[in-house]
Amino acid sequence: MVQWAKHPGRRGHDGASAALRGVGLRLTGPRRLVLEVVRGSDAHPTAEAVHQMVRCRLPRVSLGTVYRNLRLLVAQGLVKELPGPHTRFDRNLSEHHHFTCLACGRIADVAGPLTEPHSRALVSRVASSGGFSVTHHRIEFYGRCAACRRKGRGRAARRPPS
Ligand code: ZN
Ligand code: MN
Repeated sequence: MVQWAKHPGRRGHDGASAALRGVGLRLTGPRRLVLEVVRGSDAHPTAEAVHQMVRCRLPRVSLGTVYRNLRLLVAQGLVKELPGPHTRFDRNLSEHHHFTCLACGRIADVAGPLTEPHSRALVSRVASSGGFSVTHHRIEFYGRCAACRRKGRGRAARRPPS
């Protein structure tokens, strides 16, 4: 049902390079690494988290450089951005929603088809209620993930962690 985003196949070096070339972006070391790191993570990392992972291999790269490259990759449609108090970055480009665990902060992908046809009906009700033209929508789910439920912790958590 809810999947902790797992994508088959390792996208290495060549995949990231080819993807950058495909959208006509100049191939710089930091840029390729930023894309590799986001594609290699199922954690919906923040810019700071991406920076930390990139620094393991490129110690002198700045947060600013990482951030600029993330923006560029989003603009080119190579990664997605999740708006919020702390912007997160998502390698999953398909239409999907998210479940956030309020105890551990993990964000899991909820496949788009899982919310169909209810979300489609909701969109058309919202659209006709206000004469809106709805281009897209997002559904956020919150609660406790299976692992945290097993541990029985996180009772104090009330707000979505940032
Ligand atoms: Zn959890
Ligand atoms: Mn996602």
